[in-house]
Amino acid sequence: MKNSILLLLVLELFGCLTLASTFTPHSKSYFAQLSLRVKERRDKKGDPCKKIDQRTNTPFISKSNHMTLSSKVRSTDSKQLEDKSGLRIIISGAPASGKGTQCEMIKEKYDVVHLSTGDMLRAAVAARTDVGIQAKDYMDSGNLVPDDVIIGIVRDRLNEDDCKQKGWLLDGFPRTAAQADALAEAGVCVDCFIFLNVADEALVDRVVGRRTDPLTGKIYHMTYSPPEDEDITARLTQRSDDTEEKVKVRLAQFHANVDAVKGKYSDIAIDIDGSAKPTDVTSAISLAIEAQVFS
Ligand code: AMP
Repeated sequence: MKNSILLLLVLELFGCLTLASTFTPHSKSYFAQLSLRVKERRDKKGDPCKKIDQRTNTPFISKSNHMTLSSKVRSTDSKQLEDKSGLRIIISGAPASGKGTQCEMIKEKYDVVHLSTGDMLRAAVAARTDVGIQAKDYMDSGNLVPDDVIIGIVRDRLNEDDCKQKGWLLDGFPRTAAQADALAEAGVCVDCFIFLNVADEALVDRVVGRRTDPLTGKIYHMTYSPPEDEDITARLTQRSDDTEEKVKVRLAQFHANVDAVKGKYSDIAIDIDGSAKPTDVTSAISLAIEAQVFS
């Protein structure tokens, strides 16, 4: 007993427990370590977040988001953790490549704000806002919404307090080179760009069988991941653009832009085989993120 306590102390002293704590998603010390590493990486690479937002003439990401964290790591009370430098992750991939499922894990594990531009636009359409009215016909036909409609929404959302304090996971943006340029011009710095690789043939099958539970938000596939019971089956909904005809348009849009978008993030890109079992994809993503951030 005495010996094992001594061993633990020695390991802690030499930082050998760091890796173990990275696999404990909800511990405060984990987030403190993560924040410190994220901050160190940004300092090493030069933090582009200090650029000015031309529209408001203020720093795009406020200073509180990249303050010195060394003092915070020493003490980990919740007030201080609010000021952490959270991860800023982009997840990209074709329609039905599994982004939604993987985002559930990433947002839980890294305590970041999940921003899906598809969800934001669908909410805007449902609420019949100006953006929704402009976006509706493009979305119904499987085409991309014009850059100038979507860029403003994302920029504004990233500038809200929760994103500045916790970090974020951008799902479905940027989808064009112009959108990636707009993020960079706004001084938004990104830590990891995760790309889920799945062959087109598998994607069509995934899209057509995909259903959502409106009550829980959980995503099912009628063949590969069917609902647990008849009550759930009865309430499942299908997205209006999840048809074979529309997915072909969506895939064409994806292929027309993907290389240009990936090219913007080649230094921080993580390529993941998205055709594996969802739990294996999850493990691969978290290992890759942590290898990148803690390297
Ligand atoms: P998703 O839920 O990500 O599949 O997006 C659904 C639809 O929303 C897409 O087919 C596009 O019409 C639109 N959309 C979502 N994100 C973007 C984006 N970054 N740029 C343009 N259109 C988008």
